[in-house]
Amino acid sequence: MAGTAVRGRLTTWQTATVGPVTDETPKVRTLRLEVPDWPGHRAGQHVDIRLTADDGYQAERAYSIASAPGEPLAITVERLDDGEVSPYLTEEARPGDQLEVRGPIGGYFVWEPGSGSDSGSGSGGPLLLAAGGSGVVPLRAIVRERSRAGSPVPVRLLYSSRSWEDVIYSTEFGLPPGGVEVIYTLTRSQPRMWQGYARRVDDTMLAEVAWPASERPLAYVCGPTSFVESVAAGLVKLGYPAGRVKTERFGATGG
Ligand SMILES: Cc1cc2nc3c(=O)[nH]c(=O)nc-3n(C[C@H](O)[C@H](O)[C@H](O)COP(=O)(O)OP(=O)(O)OC[C@H]3O[C@@H](n4cnc5c(N)ncnc54)[C@H](O)[C@@H]3O)c2cc1C
Repeated sequence: MAGTAVRGRLTTWQTATVGPVTDETPKVRTLRLEVPDWPGHRAGQHVDIRLTADDGYQAERAYSIASAPGEPLAITVERLDDGEVSPYLTEEARPGDQLEVRGPIGGYFVWEPGSGSDSGSGSGGPLLLAAGGSGVVPLRAIVRERSRAGSPVPVRLLYSSRSWEDVIYSTEFGLPPGGVEVIYTLTRSQPRMWQGYARRVDDTMLAEVAWPASERPLAYVCGPTSFVESVAAGLVKLGYPAGRVKTERFGATGG
C-alpha cells in the first residue's frame, strides 16, 4: 500500500506482533507492540492501528504512544463497550497476535528536553500537563522522557478521571524527589476520605493548579475534545499565550 509523507518521512503499514499486555484498570490495557523495523519515536507522538477482519473489513484508529523514546513501542487503550476497535485491543488481543501499525506520527504535540525554551537550550519554563481520562497516555510518555533525560524542568500534572478505579498509571507517577506533582480530580465518585478535587476541571481549579503565566509555562492538554477545549480556553484566560498551549483531541469519546 502507498505510504503517507509525515514530516518528510514515508510511513507505511507494518506488521506488529502483540507482546506482553498489562491491565491498568478494569477498562484499560497497555499493549507492547513488537515492530521489526520500528524507527523509534518521540514523546507525544501517536500511531495508527489497523485491524482486518476475516471478511476483509478494515478498521483504523489512532493511539498515542505510551512509552518514552528508546523504550519498546507501547499503546494504552481504554475500552468503549460499544466501540469497534478498542474492545478487541483491550479484551481479545493476545501476545503473539498480529495487527498493522503505521507511524510514528505527529510533531506538534511532541515534547523533548528543551521544548518551550526560546533558545532550545532547555531553559524553558515549567511544564503543565492536563489529562482527561486516557488523554494521560502521551503525557505519560512525556513524564518518562523527562525522567529518562534527567531534565530539571518542573512538571505538574492535572489529571481528571471519573473515579479512582479509572485512574491509569496510578502507581507510576507518585511523587519521587524532584519528580512530578500530580493533582487528581475525580468527577463521578470518590473514595472515602478523598481530599482531592471532585468535579470537572473549571477555571477556578485551573487558577489554583496551573503555573502562573509569568513563569512562561508550556502546557500540553490531551483528552476528549470537550475537555481539551475547555482547559485550553481556561489557560488562555489565565494569560497563557495560545502558542504555548499544545492540544491533542481524542474525539468525542473517552475520558
Ligand atoms: C491522536 C489520537 C490519539 C488517541 N490516543 C488514544 C489512546 O492513547 N488511548 C485510547 O484509548 N484512545 C485514544 N484515541 C481514541 C481512539 O482513536 C479511538 O477513537 C477509541 O479507541 C474508540 O475507538 P473504537 O473503535 O473502540 O470506537 P468507535 O467504534 O470509533 O466508536 C466510538 C464511539 O462513537 C460511537 N459511534 C460510532 N459510530 C457512530 C455513528 N455512526 N453514529 C453515532 N455514534 C457512533 C460509538 O457508539 C462509540 O461510543 C486517540 C485518538 C486520537 C485522534
